[in-house]
Amino acid sequence: MELIKNIYNKIGRPINIMEVCGTHTVAIFKHGIRSLLPEGLKLLSGPGCPVCVTSIEDIDKVIAISMLDDVILCTFGDMMRVPGGKKSLSEAKAEGADIRIVYSPLDCLSIARVNINKKVVFFSAGFETTTPSVAGTLFEAERQKIDNFYIYSVNKLVPPAIEILLQSDEINIDGFILPGHVSTIIGIHPYKFIAEKYKRSGVITGFKAEDIITGIVMLLRQIAEGRAAVEIQYKSVVTEIGNQKAMDFINEFFETCDSYWRGIGMLPNSGLKLREKYRHRDAEAVFNIDLSDGVAEPKGCQCGLVLRGIKIPSECPLFGKACTPEKPVGACMVSTEGSCAAYYKYNLLS
Ligand code: SF4
Repeated sequence: MELIKNIYNKIGRPINIMEVCGTHTVAIFKHGIRSLLPEGLKLLSGPGCPVCVTSIEDIDKVIAISMLDDVILCTFGDMMRVPGGKKSLSEAKAEGADIRIVYSPLDCLSIARVNINKKVVFFSAGFETTTPSVAGTLFEAERQKIDNFYIYSVNKLVPPAIEILLQSDEINIDGFILPGHVSTIIGIHPYKFIAEKYKRSGVITGFKAEDIITGIVMLLRQIAEGRAAVEIQYKSVVTEIGNQKAMDFINEFFETCDSYWRGIGMLPNSGLKLREKYRHRDAEAVFNIDLSDGVAEPKGCQCGLVLRGIKIPSECPLFGKACTPEKPVGACMVSTEGSCAAYYKYNLLS
């Protein structure tokens, strides 16, 4: 920590560093890293929680699909309590929808095999880390000719969200702690624009306390030396080129599309949809749900500002009062990787 203070003092101005990944946010709180940093060196939480950035419209469409008689909807557990426009998946389940929590997309294939008269839909949310397992499940569904398996894809890509933050004049971000897990798949090249186009720093960082502290030191060194580069701290796991096999697998089934990020907006080429060849498994296309009455963000929720690093969760007037993990108003309070949930768990209660 002395080293961080020395380099920071050399820089001599306030510095904003954003951790993009929700797992980093939780690790930073767990290890009490924020409280050890010099005043003026701020760690901001970014949009790296896939549950938090899933749009209300997508949640409402998936709920509508789950209410159909011949559908079994499968989802990861942290999506269950995210509030939609009118209800959550948990509430839809209480009303009779057949919604099942799975631990892997492959579990859906076992469910589809024994429920041949039902359509089994996987609500697929996640970044580059989880998409290969969804592609693997699609591969198996094709290979085993399991025709009653579909996915509703809200899979997203991390680099386009970083670029939008860099284009914004709402906040200045000097450097990014880049996600270790996502980078095992995509490698370093998709982040190069951070340094080359925007002259900012980035370090792909691991999740232990010493990894994060080293990542911060590497970022500060770049800034102190007037350099902008994207570097790898997490070298034991992340390589320059990433996992080409996993990327090929993703590219076989998915293509990029514009995607709506809750709190941020529509980002070009930031999502993944099934390629035309596999469109028969695309739940959005197959069920074609029309939400004519529109969707609205929960009143007073400031998840958008939190996800863009403009406000910290405790600055939201609902934080810890109307909005708690037991009774969440916004998505950032639901997922364990959400900034508001992390602030609540580690700040307010400890
Ligand atoms: Fe949204 Fe709750 Fe976070 Fe406020 S505290 S920004 S209402 S999730």
